[in-house]
This record gives sequence, C-alpha cells and structure tokens, in this order.
Amino acid sequence: MLTHNLGYPRIGSHRELKRACEQFWAGRITADELLATGQAIRRANWLTQQAAGIDLMPVNDFSFYDQVLDTALLVGAVPDRYQPLLAERPDLTLYFAMARGIQRAGVDIPAMEMTKWFDTNYHYLVPEFSRNQSFRRYGDKLVREFDEARDLGLTTKPVLLGPVSFLLLGKEKEPGFRRIDLLDNLLPVYVSLLQELAGHGAEWVQLDEPCLTLDLTPDEQQAYGRAYQTIRQAVPGLKLMVATYFECLGANLQTGAQLPVDCLHLDLVRCPSQLGDLLADTRLAATVKCLSLGVVDGRNIWKNDFVRSLNLIRQAIDGFGADRLMLAPSCSLLHSPCDLDLEQNEAVLTPAMKRWMAFARQKLDEVVTLNKLATATTSDSVGALLADNQAAIDSRRTSPLIHKPRVAARVQAIEPADFERQSAFASRQVLQTASLRLPLFPTTTIGSFPQTDAVRQLRARFKKGDLTVADYNQALEAETEAAIRWQEAVGLDVLVHGEFERNDMVEYFGEQLAGYVFTQNGWVQSYGSRCVKPPIIYGDVERPRPMTVRWTAFAQSRTDRFMKGMLTGPITMLQWSFVRDDQPRRTTAFQLALAIRDEVVDLERAGIRIIQIDEPAIREGLPLRRADWPAYLQWAVDAFRLSAAGVADQTQIHTHMCYSEFNDIIDSIARLDADVITIETSRSQMELLDAFAHFQYPNEIGPGVYDIHSPRVPTVAEMVTLLEKALVHIPARNLWVNPDCGLKTRAWPETRQALEHMVEAARQLQRSHALV
Ligand code: GLN
Ligand code: ZN
Repeated sequence: MLTHNLGYPRIGSHRELKRACEQFWAGRITADELLATGQAIRRANWLTQQAAGIDLMPVNDFSFYDQVLDTALLVGAVPDRYQPLLAERPDLTLYFAMARGIQRAGVDIPAMEMTKWFDTNYHYLVPEFSRNQSFRRYGDKLVREFDEARDLGLTTKPVLLGPVSFLLLGKEKEPGFRRIDLLDNLLPVYVSLLQELAGHGAEWVQLDEPCLTLDLTPDEQQAYGRAYQTIRQAVPGLKLMVATYFECLGANLQTGAQLPVDCLHLDLVRCPSQLGDLLADTRLAATVKCLSLGVVDGRNIWKNDFVRSLNLIRQAIDGFGADRLMLAPSCSLLHSPCDLDLEQNEAVLTPAMKRWMAFARQKLDEVVTLNKLATATTSDSVGALLADNQAAIDSRRTSPLIHKPRVAARVQAIEPADFERQSAFASRQVLQTASLRLPLFPTTTIGSFPQTDAVRQLRARFKKGDLTVADYNQALEAETEAAIRWQEAVGLDVLVHGEFERNDMVEYFGEQLAGYVFTQNGWVQSYGSRCVKPPIIYGDVERPRPMTVRWTAFAQSRTDRFMKGMLTGPITMLQWSFVRDDQPRRTTAFQLALAIRDEVVDLERAGIRIIQIDEPAIREGLPLRRADWPAYLQWAVDAFRLSAAGVADQTQIHTHMCYSEFNDIIDSIARLDADVITIETSRSQMELLDAFAHFQYPNEIGPGVYDIHSPRVPTVAEMVTLLEKALVHIPARNLWVNPDCGLKTRAWPETRQALEHMVEAARQLQRSHALV
C-alpha cells in the first residue's frame, strides 16, 4: 500500500509562522523575510514527512493564513471591494487585506467573513460570490510550491480544495442565484490549474471535498458527478484523489464511490462503519479504483490502537486487495499539535501519559508502521512494534490515573431528578424576585473585565516564580476591589469580580480539575496567526477542592450588591479540550457537569445568590448532519442541567452564550432552563429575536446591547433602541441589560464609557415603564 498524508501543521513546530506574520503586519520584517519563513517551514515539513517514510507528501497544504482564501485567490474569486489592491506589489497586501481588512490613508476595506471549518476549532475565510461571478486563473501558489518541492528532489501530491466544496463553503452576497450554479464557470479554471500541474510533472493531485460528508441536496450531489466527469476528461493523465473527512459519506456514499477518480479517501476514525457499508455493496465497491483508509486520527492526540486499525485494514485488503489501497491519517494533521517530543515538562505531562499520545509527527510514524504491520509476513521486528503499541494501549485502558471507580459510579448513579431544579421556572421566578429584589431591567456584565498589561504581567511573574502567592493574591485582590468600587459607582445591579485571576475560561478550571493535563507546546492553528493550546482530558474528571469560592467569596465580602459567581459549563469545557476517545463524549460531559455542580453548590453555601455557568460553545458542538442533532442536544442540555440543578429555588442560575445563530436551536436553549440567559445579539441587531416571534422564550433573558468585539462606544439611544426592539417579544419583567460577551479584550476607557451608557439606557427604560 502507498502511504500518504493529507496535510501537515503549517504553523511551524515553534509557531514560526505566527511570529513572522505578526512581525510582518507590524512592519518589523520585510515581505521577503516572511516568504523565507514560509519556505523554511515547508521544507522542514517535507523533510519530516520524507524521513518518516510517507510515500506521497502533500504540497500546497501550507498557507500564510488559510487554505480556503488561497483557493479563492487561485481561481480569482476576489470580491470587488479589493479591486484597488489588485495592482499592488507585493501581492501579500491583497492577500492579508482579504484576510484581515486594511485601513490606511484613503483605504478602509473590511476583511472577508470568517467561520468555523466544519466541527473543528479552525476558522476559514468564507468565499464571497456575486450573481455575475467570474473566475480566472489568478495566483500561482499551487505550481510554485509544487516546483519548490520538486527542486528539492521531492515527489509530492498537490492538495487543493475541490470545486464543489469551494462553492458550498462560500456565500451568495446578493440574491437571485445559487452558488452551486457557478460550477460551470469555475470548472475551466480548475481544469487549467490541474493541466498546469500535470505539465509540471505532478502524478497525483488530492482534491479535498469534505462537503461530501454533509447533508446534500440532489442538485449538489449531481454537481459532484458533473465536476469530476469534466475534470477527468480534461486531465486524463493526472491521478485524482478525492478526500472526504470529518463524517460518514452516509447518503452520499454512492455519489462519492462513483466519482470517476483514481482514489477515494475515507475518514475511518470518525466513521469506521462506512468501510463495511461500501464493501457490502459489491457492485459499488467495484467502481472504486482505489480506497485511501484514514485510520490515524488527525484531530486528536491519542496513540493509534494498531489492533483496531489493522482489523479495518485487513477487512479492506480482503475486499479490495492491497494494491487498491492507500493508508493515511483521517484528515489533514493541521488539527494536531506538531510534535510530542517537544513536550519536556515531565512533572506535568509524565512519561507514562506521553506514552498514550501521538502528535502530528508521531502520527506519520503510525501510518508507516501500520503499513508495515499490515503487509509484513511475521517478522520479529514488526512483532515488537505491535507488542509495544499494545502495551501502551493496555496501560491506558487499565491505568488508575485514568479510571476512577468512584467517578464512574457517580455518573452511573445519576437519577432523573438530578437534572431538575426543585420547582419549575415560574415558581422560582416568584421566589427570586422576592428575595433578590432587583429593579426592572437589571444591569449586569458577562464576567471578565479588561485584562490590562499590568494584570497579564502579574500572572506571568507569578508563573515564573518572581512573585509569592501572597503578593500575587494581594495584587489580584486590589484589582478586584477596584473593579467592584467602579461597578458600584456606575450603578450596575449585579456585579462580577472581573476574572483577573483567570488566564482562559477553560484552562483556569482544567488546571484545578483532576483528569486534565496541559502541554507546553501543543499549539493548533485556530485562524491566521492565532493558535490555541487545548488542554487534554485524559482521565475521569473530578474536582479535588473548590475552584472559585475563594475569589467569589472575597468579592462578595466587599460589596452589599449581589456578586455573580462565574463558572465555565461542561459542554464548553469539553468542546475546547482534546477529549478522551475511550468513552462517549456524553460520559465525559457528565463527569464535568458533576464537578461543576459541586462548585455551584459550594458557591451557594458560601452565600453567593447568583451563579453564571457559561456555555458559549454549546452550538459549535452540533454534529455535521442534522439527523444527529437531537441526540447531541439531548445530552448536552442534560449536562448543563446537571451542573446547575443542585441549588435551591432562590438561587438564580445564569448562563451565557455567544457566537450567534441560535435561532435553529432555540428550543434546546430554553430547555437549559437557566433562570437568566445573556446572549450575543447586538451585531445582528437582535436578529435572534426573530425566533421569538414563533417561539416564546420562557425565562429571563439579556440580549446583548453592546458589541464588545469593537472598541466603539455605543450611544445610550442605540442601546435603548435595541432594548425596545427586544421588548416587542420579551415581557419587561424578563428583560436584562448587558453587553454581548466578556470585556477582557477591551481597554478600560471605552469599557467605562460604554457601561455608563448601558446603565443609563436601562434607567431610561425604567422611567418610561414607570409612567405606563
Ligand atoms: N465569563 C466569560 C468572560 O466574560 C465568558 C466568555 C465567553 O463567553 N467566551 O470572559
Ligand atoms: Zn461570550
């Protein structure tokens, strides 16, 4: 079998790309220096893959920002507003303007929209299409990088986002057409790109078509057939691989299998069953010339279980014969951290745990080893590799670090009543109104206040050991106290402590929970130069001791107003971490929920009357296919309810959500049964409320009236207008007044002003309602 790879992390193993890009944007390095960094990363990646023994290495998987943006440039899909930049050199100006917007003398052009890449935490730039959209050969990155590898004496497989996925991932920017109908305009450009590649000596090309794993209309399915028929005829000599990943082909299995291409890649980590489905249909299987088996998880950090993978591979060999198979990771390794060998802090990530893991570089070895194991006739060296792998897998399966019977037993013992507050919302609201005595249109914020350089430095110095615990705490107390005094002066009703002690809303809790471990260098690209370092949930999750009670109780002790407790919810903890692959996500979510429930109860016991459990990530956990939504929403909402339901009726539970577009899951949001939800809406001018025309949201709600993503200070009048819009659908007694999200990325001056305006807006509303 040939081994291949779909894509390698392009950030560089020490985030060289991030540094170079940011320096270039700041004008501290030249375009040539940036280009040289890109070249060095590409070269290092190829050499790494070559050394691992990968037969077909990807090229054009590198990008200075995003591969979808790269594709848009290759096919000349440059939105009109960037026309003034077309002639400029270097062409990086246009490129980064599309990615990030551009503002300079006489020019002010906003960036393209960015959105999540399927169900990953990577974000891509959304191609924009107009009714009269034309395409043309524009960039030459594809052949340039192919030639660059060839000049190094390397044989590579160019990778390109396929034409149908490229269209489906984009957006119509005006009415009157469907983007899929642009296919016939687009295909000649793809054909010309591929012909040029063939002319430069490419043998294989990989066309990524991840949209084949989504729900497709019959038109879209047909578009696939048409696209690849055309390409096949136009470039008969080039070997075409169509890569699918992130889900089962499902209802598109036939569409995928019948494409006239030389190889079809399947994600057998996410969907092992599709191999059997394909084999079961012998006639369909016969139409597949070659199948690429994605058996090594490209999206998680766990060591491959060779026995399990070999079972799949053998099943495939039986059905297809080894000469019709290739082996690969399940998807691009873009979503994996670079190299486990860079983790050298053995006090945290112990050698025992490291033995359970594989990052991108190690995954290459796994693919190559699996190939040896699958095709070897019994030889000792190969047998030792398998034995070593199974020893590691067994040690994980049985490790007391991971498996804690009391945690499992507690999840087992969850009863239906544990998901329920004592009384229904209507009764709770009466009790809370009586005991909290908040004004009509109460004001609050979402939790964090500006993380100034001073606060950040404090944390950095403490982490380095330059600051004692006592000094650190004292400094944080001073920050917190100042924030409280200030909130009182402005006149906010429900206060927050400001989250100055927190680096990140997941990391802060993960560091205090058993079952979590952290890497030093496990960076993964989120978008452009932004990388995240997700914590790893490796074992049963437990809360050894209270996590936030100290800070919340301290803050409450400094004010007579209500201090809101501030926690991160189970789904967000799950969603923004690398998670276990040895138990269902639901089980991990319930373990997290129980840990948070204990914290909620402890906060209540410490006298905190209002507790917020943030769940910004609940929507992004939605499965790619609609049919799978209800099952996910069931357990996700249950996990939240489990975390929240341990308190008395008088205790008010808040939740918070952002990243918009909740209209299609509004009934699940209602089922969370939080007493109050604060939710992002201001950028969309309360579009969310459209959902309320049909669905009466039953509990209290604070639709954000201040867009915290921009330094702009909204006027009192603007906020009053938004609130009045909200009042069309929401009864006055249920309406809260708050910003869209936490304020930690903002600076103090605009935050102060905006919140003063916000409080004034609430007062104006109160006055006008008092008159009625
Ligand atoms: N409480 C968090 C904060 O204010 C919420 C962050 C979020 O929703 N992403 O920072
Ligand atoms: Zn938010």
